[in-house]
Amino acid sequence: MKCPNCHHEIESSLTSKCPNCGFKFDDEFYISQANESEDTSNLDKSIDPDDYPTGGLPFIALILPILGLLAIIFRTKNKPYTRKIYAIATIAGAVAWGAVLFLIFKQW
Ligand SMILES: [Zn+2]
Repeated sequence: MKCPNCHHEIESSLTSKCPNCGFKFDDEFYISQANESEDTSNLDKSIDPDDYPTGGLPFIALILPILGLLAIIFRTKNKPYTRKIYAIATIAGAVAWGAVLFLIFKQW
């Protein structure tokens, strides 16, 4: 971003005043800056480009929830979207297994 007073390029967005002229930024300035920068480059940085479940793993997680749990532990580092998919599949699988086992044991 640039200082609105002297147009000095400021590297850090965490600073509250211009290192060149000492111009103090207020909240209003930050809000206008945030609205101006429409590009989502900051958002993209935190999301892994490979953030999607691999192949049929969510389905495997559905059938064998324990594998889904292992996938969540070992394969979803910095992949919040993938983790969510696995978590849903694992929970759905666990519930389905719970229902199946309940029905089986209920008959005895
Ligand atoms: Zn300045």
